[in-house]
Amino acid sequence: MTSTEIPSGFHKAIRWYPPAYDIRVDEVPVPRIQHPDDVIVKVKLAALCGSDLHIYRGHGGINSVHVCGHEFIGEVVALGESYGSDAQGRPALYSSLKVGDKVVSPFTVNCGECHVCRLGYTGRCLDGGLFGSPALDGGQAQYVRVPKAGGTLFNLSNPSTWSSALPEETKKNALLNIADSSLLMLADILPTGVFAALQAINHPKVAPVITGKPWPHCFSKDDVLGNEVSFTESDRILTVAVIGLGPVGVCATVSMLDVLATRKIPFQLVAIDPVESRREKMKAVYNTIDVEGKGTGDFAVLAIDEAKAKIGEWTAGVGATAVLEVVGNTSAINLAYEVVRAFGVIVSVGVHGEPPLPMSGRQLYNKNISLDFGRCPSRAMFPPAFDLLVKRQDVFGGIGEPASLVDRIVDFSQAADIYRAFEKNQIGKVIFDPWK
Ligand SMILES: [Zn+2]
Ligand SMILES: [Zn+2]
Repeated sequence: MTSTEIPSGFHKAIRWYPPAYDIRVDEVPVPRIQHPDDVIVKVKLAALCGSDLHIYRGHGGINSVHVCGHEFIGEVVALGESYGSDAQGRPALYSSLKVGDKVVSPFTVNCGECHVCRLGYTGRCLDGGLFGSPALDGGQAQYVRVPKAGGTLFNLSNPSTWSSALPEETKKNALLNIADSSLLMLADILPTGVFAALQAINHPKVAPVITGKPWPHCFSKDDVLGNEVSFTESDRILTVAVIGLGPVGVCATVSMLDVLATRKIPFQLVAIDPVESRREKMKAVYNTIDVEGKGTGDFAVLAIDEAKAKIGEWTAGVGATAVLEVVGNTSAINLAYEVVRAFGVIVSVGVHGEPPLPMSGRQLYNKNISLDFGRCPSRAMFPPAFDLLVKRQDVFGGIGEPASLVDRIVDFSQAADIYRAFEKNQIGKVIFDPWK
């Protein structure tokens, strides 16, 4: 396949105009292959995401018109010259990706071949880039160019190109039966939620609770006991707080519940948000999950003050072992600091703006806090996120239900209104169909 197969002419794209709050649907030239590793994807669905609001509001000093959106699913319509059966020693898709394959993209480009990508830190690939930014047109369009697509894309038409803990049959059936609107959650919100949960659960500060061995023996393979006094049952309870119950916060909570249930870890989990409608969504999601998926632990959805009291009550004033901060602002980080225990971990996956962190070095010292910040390496998280998506179709399968993360699917003509309403918190997650 070569660039000769690229559709020509113009296509529709949602574009942002400076300085802020200006969204238009424009007819612009269809993107072309610019580099042999490029692929052109015909977008089937593209989602609107909370982090799109940073640019929408004019934060971050961006002042050039560009195509919005970093969450999309679609079909390959053109491949650069790097693709073919002789692409030796490169990511599998350079050999196997074909025109017509269904693909979902992570929100960032990642080559899949450099040191950073090989370690699994794909969100920070040196050749990377964020879709829907001035540097790289986004997916809220009829077509999108995907650089380094052999390392970036996830080929839903060829399940042999990724590993899964699911039985082969389950995986195949999933690909036949799961709706595109559900698979689209792989682009960002689900891997980011899984990432937040896994970062916390795998953090060294959490290890004593999980292994039942005190610091520093929690990492030793033999049965050395570090203390004269052995652990009590309550020492083995993992207390987790999730701050912010937008779609990513819900995904993080569901992921955390799944990890805790799968590993049979006793827990206390509180999901926190000041907005009642978000708490109601979280409760509906929790009620939808089957008994097995809920694990053996206490679960609460609370507003801020009630949550503080609950954590105090659960832990006799010690605080949460781990806090997942899924908002990305000063008050959320302040709350995380307040409720985390000494020797606790704060995992922050929200996109933070310019304001400096509200706590001092002294405060961090006084609580021995670990801060684990930053963007999810979503391509690296796709395999576990895909498995969870399949397992939790009760939550991730619907649209517009009380427990659904997606509110509705709309056409491009409503783009400006939808952005406006989304920014004002009047609607939940929305998906655009560029062909409607
Ligand atoms: Zn997103
Ligand atoms: Zn890379």
